Amino acid sequence: MTSEHHPLGESLHRVVGEATAKKLEKAFGMRTADDLLRHYPRRYEKRGELTPLAALERGSQVTVLAEVISVKSRSMQRRHGKIWELVVTDGRHQLNLVFFGNQHNARRLEKGHRALFSGTVGFYNGKPQLAHPEFHLVGDAEDELPIGDLPSGDRAATHWIGEMIPVYPATRAVQSWDIIKYVKEALAWASTKEFADPLPAELRAEHNLANLADALFIVHRPKDWAQAQWAKSRLRWEEAFVLQAALAQRRSATRGLPATPRVARPDGLLAAFDNRLPFELTTGQREVGEELTAELARSCPMNRLLQGEVGSGKTVVALRAMLAVVDAGGQAALLAPTEVLAQQHHRLLCALLGPLAEAGTLGGDENGTRVALLTGSLGTAARRAALLDAASGQAGIVVGTHALLQHKVEFADLGLVVVDEQHRFGVEQRDALRAKSITLPHLLVMTATPIPRTVAMTVFGDLDVSTLTELPAGRSPIATHVVPVADKPNFLDRAWQRIREEVTGGHQAYVVCPRIGEAEDEDGMPPDPFLEDEEERRPAAAVLDVAPDLAAGPLAGLRVDVLHGRMPTERKDAVMAAFAAGELDVLIATTVIEVGVDVPNATVMAVLDAERFGISQLHQLRGRVGRGTAAGLCLLITDAEAGTPARERLDAVAATTDGFELSRVDLLTRREGDVLGTSQSGGRSSLRILSVIRDADLIAAARVEATRVIDADPELRSLPALAAALADLLDTQRAGYLDKS
Ligand code: ADP
Ligand code: MG
Repeated sequence: MTSEHHPLGESLHRVVGEATAKKLEKAFGMRTADDLLRHYPRRYEKRGELTPLAALERGSQVTVLAEVISVKSRSMQRRHGKIWELVVTDGRHQLNLVFFGNQHNARRLEKGHRALFSGTVGFYNGKPQLAHPEFHLVGDAEDELPIGDLPSGDRAATHWIGEMIPVYPATRAVQSWDIIKYVKEALAWASTKEFADPLPAELRAEHNLANLADALFIVHRPKDWAQAQWAKSRLRWEEAFVLQAALAQRRSATRGLPATPRVARPDGLLAAFDNRLPFELTTGQREVGEELTAELARSCPMNRLLQGEVGSGKTVVALRAMLAVVDAGGQAALLAPTEVLAQQHHRLLCALLGPLAEAGTLGGDENGTRVALLTGSLGTAARRAALLDAASGQAGIVVGTHALLQHKVEFADLGLVVVDEQHRFGVEQRDALRAKSITLPHLLVMTATPIPRTVAMTVFGDLDVSTLTELPAGRSPIATHVVPVADKPNFLDRAWQRIREEVTGGHQAYVVCPRIGEAEDEDGMPPDPFLEDEEERRPAAAVLDVAPDLAAGPLAGLRVDVLHGRMPTERKDAVMAAFAAGELDVLIATTVIEVGVDVPNATVMAVLDAERFGISQLHQLRGRVGRGTAAGLCLLITDAEAGTPARERLDAVAATTDGFELSRVDLLTRREGDVLGTSQSGGRSSLRILSVIRDADLIAAARVEATRVIDADPELRSLPALAAALADLLDTQRAGYLDKS
């Protein structure tokens, strides 16, 4: 999209020609001049500091700048054709190059030529060599490198050697030096355009930021490190600011929309519920509760993220908010990420409400309401009944999965949407549900994955945040131990023995496996980013293999059953109910139990092949034990050896139960894309050089500035360039959603 405010939106083919544009689109998805100009260098190398010839490692892909000092060619003995042997130098060290066959290209290389050579380092006779490197002559008349001129004398040579060469993210088809050339064309094109800067001038002045034109020119062709940093800092600011402005605008737009105020009656359902609560609310629960009540009573929609450790009592807080809405004549929907969780929530809500959830039945409370469950696998009759309850308003609370997002589901008066475990829902899904109400329903998002502040600002930036920091009193601490079985196989027996002891003491246990087994499609197990480069690993423990082994072996005589995502719903239900009722001793399961499963009598969990799980996931998993008054024990069974990164992650989990600390450790070991998830970043991430981990302070500052700008001018009438950048960002995000579906 190009406009007077966004000249860089020009189609790439108009800038670099049809063929190049095609190549760039194929390699990087680039479509506009902007896409190319914002393909920032990954790093810079000074000439002569490209991969130093002294430090070539076998098998690594390198680009070196060197001068040819000798060229020899001879006929090959056994085969037809010639072999070309070149020696190049960076002035200190030498490197051999070899070309076989009648290489017309290699013929172009002569003694004294300087070129960039790129290839994979091999060794021959103990010396490093590049076979068939790609090369690019530096200073070729028709093919000049666009960075500086070939020196003609010694003085110039010093300057030439010191110049910074950008190194771009590249592919085999489009090498870094190709990009240098294309960017040069794009910069030449851009130098004739007026740059409209999305960053307001006052903001740039205040934070000493380069303007957009300077930043783009300099980031591709800096004179020195300081200049490069200056340009990058501005570009980082821009990313943070534009993203925060988009979020601020979303917040502000939502605030401007009407919502129905929902105020609980003093003698209504909420009051009745509080009266029958078997425990005291924690201070945090009470405070957040008041925050929610106040916001529900306003005539603009609440948009709140409720975060709190596993077991901190979020569900109770959410339920009280739902009851306030029901009191006021509205309905609430609770959206869970999986069917098991939806059922679990339904059961928990019904249990907490008791007779208050049985309106219209014998023994039901006259003040009461109904809690409907609506999932994809309901039978026709049950489904019709649930739909009717939702549409008629009979059900004050409707619990469900994605099925709630379908068009057919109607509500009489949807006042509040509660989303559990947001990280599995995209913004667009939230919006689909919110579209089911005439005025905007209030929104409460719950997450048990503690999110560092700046990530919350970025990923959930359109939400206000409440945090439950304490666990209800009487919660028992969870002790976590790493059980290394590679060097100490008898530890495994000891683990099973601990489970038997707990069961003998009247308690229950979980055994968690990374896989289901038998077939390949799995639930709950995301691709593990840590395992990429390990080869030929033994397949991870699978529920369907482990269960019979344990039942016949170490856990013989105990009541054992399995739970995993491939089981039919009724079967899952029956097993969960049996486990909750204490009719099973040991549940062997996948991560389906990761979130929300609540059986206080379960006191021990053994995680098999624990190193296959992520840090946050393990933290979630162990939250399933120690939910009652008895102490919880989590055994992380692994054959990862001491000192390996995998083992260090497990040690970190064992060392602390502080979810915030763990999520920080987790972040440091993850890639940016995993942190942001796909929902906000779109297919092509909108974040190029901003890091939610490294640039925390900058993001916080940008948020303040962006909020100020949007508050002063919500429509951005006075800042058309920023408005254009926001529109662009939304386009990218929308494209991301489309790609995903
Ligand atoms: P979360 O959703 O944050 O993991 P839940 O709301 O599911 O936590 O609460 C976990 C368990 O603790 C439930 O059994 C719930 O009934 C219980 N619980 C909640 N709040 C309190 C409290 N203030 N005191 C004692 N138990 C509580
Ligand atoms: Mg919960």
